Amino acid sequence: MKSVRLVQVGKPLEEADIPIPDIGSSDVLIRVAAAGICHSDAHYRAGISRIDDLPLTLGHEIAGRVEEVGGDVEHLSAGDRVCVHYLVHCGTCQFCVRGLEQFCRSGQMIGKHCDGGYAQFIKVPARNAFALPDKISFEIGAIMMCSSATALHALNKARLKSGESVAIFGFGGLGFSALQLARALGCGEIYVIEINPAKLDSIRKLGAVAIDANAGDPIEQIKEASGGKGVDVSLELIGSASTMRQAVQCLGVLGRTAFVGLTAESISIFPYPELINKEAEIIGVSDHLATELPALLEFARSGKLRFPAETLRVVDLDAAQINAALDALQDSIDHIRTVIVPSK
Ligand SMILES: [Zn+2]
Ligand SMILES: [Zn+2]
Repeated sequence: MKSVRLVQVGKPLEEADIPIPDIGSSDVLIRVAAAGICHSDAHYRAGISRIDDLPLTLGHEIAGRVEEVGGDVEHLSAGDRVCVHYLVHCGTCQFCVRGLEQFCRSGQMIGKHCDGGYAQFIKVPARNAFALPDKISFEIGAIMMCSSATALHALNKARLKSGESVAIFGFGGLGFSALQLARALGCGEIYVIEINPAKLDSIRKLGAVAIDANAGDPIEQIKEASGGKGVDVSLELIGSASTMRQAVQCLGVLGRTAFVGLTAESISIFPYPELINKEAEIIGVSDHLATELPALLEFARSGKLRFPAETLRVVDLDAAQINAALDALQDSIDHIRTVIVPSK
């Protein structure tokens, strides 16, 4: 089958003809209908995130049709539309049995530790394949499996309750989903902090309060817009020490901030006024859980989570087209998501 693989770090991906994977009794073979091209794939190619065993087929945002099922698989049959949860886990360790598979001791990420979806077929454990409702296209089913799922996990970790206000720092792929999902969960006012004028515009069009961080202290702006109260929940999606600090500072009494963006910097806070006195909380967020995907799929099926057609771009399963899309991702400032749709 055709696949597009990372052969050497720092070099363009290469097309390779490799065998269609053999499946085990608890696996399914999926004919890939769509595979999202993610920022982390650009990081793997550049060597910013390490991949140990090369060559490897990248791609962790996958949807397609079941081609073949293993003998022990009961909940899926050939022809079913599915999307893929990218964390392959053992199902038996102390974390897996508690439904915390992102900490599985032998956990693997599809498209990083094992072959991913930049190929005509992929083999995954059947429990990683989720039925994709007919109303959700393969393209959207694929891209939801990464940033949208993590945005939902962040809101769940922050225990967002109906009516609570939310501040979202950064309006990239995560923020675009987080805004819609916060609303789907019944939140109150949403403040989105950005500096990019085009993004500030789209935030306003989506009915949220756009906070232009270039126009003055964002904390002052949020305090003023919230009548001095601050917010109940904040999400830091950028991964910078200064916005992490702001995500803490904008909290009101009993506020919770969820840190999603990655940084190697340290941050400083004043424990008494910024945490203790408000009983505020800082919560780390890592990936997402299989148990969250049915709710996520239902939000998309019911139209509460949307990806307008103009935000999607399609390329073929072709090394040159995929490399060009990865190049473009490195300095993208818009919401355009590129999805591989194999032409045959
Ligand atoms: Zn991704
Ligand atoms: Zn496990």
